[in-house]
Amino acid sequence: MRFSIIRIDDVNGSNLHEIVKFFTRLDIKASLFLTHTDSPHFWKKKDWLLVKNIIKHGWEVGGHSRSHKPLVLLKNKEMLEEIIGNIKDIEEKLYEVGVTYKVTSFAYPCGEYNTVIKEILRSHNILFGLTCPDALGYKSLERLEDLNEVDPLSLGVTNTGNPINLNLWNYKFMTSNIYILALHPDPFIALKPRTLLNAAKNFNIKYVIDSIKFLKILEEHIRFMLHHGAKFITFKELWNLLHDSWKM
Ligand SMILES: [Zn+2]
Repeated sequence: MRFSIIRIDDVNGSNLHEIVKFFTRLDIKASLFLTHTDSPHFWKKKDWLLVKNIIKHGWEVGGHSRSHKPLVLLKNKEMLEEIIGNIKDIEEKLYEVGVTYKVTSFAYPCGEYNTVIKEILRSHNILFGLTCPDALGYKSLERLEDLNEVDPLSLGVTNTGNPINLNLWNYKFMTSNIYILALHPDPFIALKPRTLLNAAKNFNIKYVIDSIKFLKILEEHIRFMLHHGAKFITFKELWNLLHDSWKM
């Protein structure tokens, strides 16, 4: 069996609905990392209600900071606000719509972290700190047992979705037992009327065409994965799997 995690950063109320629609249609779940959680402009009650609903269906939500500033450049007080404030926003807003939820993963904005940031996460019982290949030293996972050797607070990704190439994506999936695909929301909102209008105004038609191509390849990739026995899990479930394997 191949475990697969879909990680999507930079999620807020303006792109959440399109992302959920896309993956629900394919009947799979993802781990979403939320920003601007303190802003009523980006997060309305209907958005939190949707988060509540997807959590019920096994999705995960985690932190990605309040305003997406590079955390390593911040003073401690601001760093705490960005990280712990973000996590508290998510838990409190979900509580307000009737669900008790504990955030256990945090994706570093731009993948950047340091020992102080990791210590903040550790002291707030965050299990996973997520980075990406172009940030500081990281490791992805090949096998479940690897997490014994890898620092869960600097966990990387297997595929960033760049370049857009179906064969390359399928190859990366086939050669890892734990496959972490990291995506960003842009392609999912390309067909929203306002985005289309802006693209037409700015003659940025290429952006729309690229997004359509990206989504088509992504769907083909997911169908390939399902065909080859992918089991879609979240970071929360990854942690539980590891604990089960330790018990054995
Ligand atoms: Zn981000």
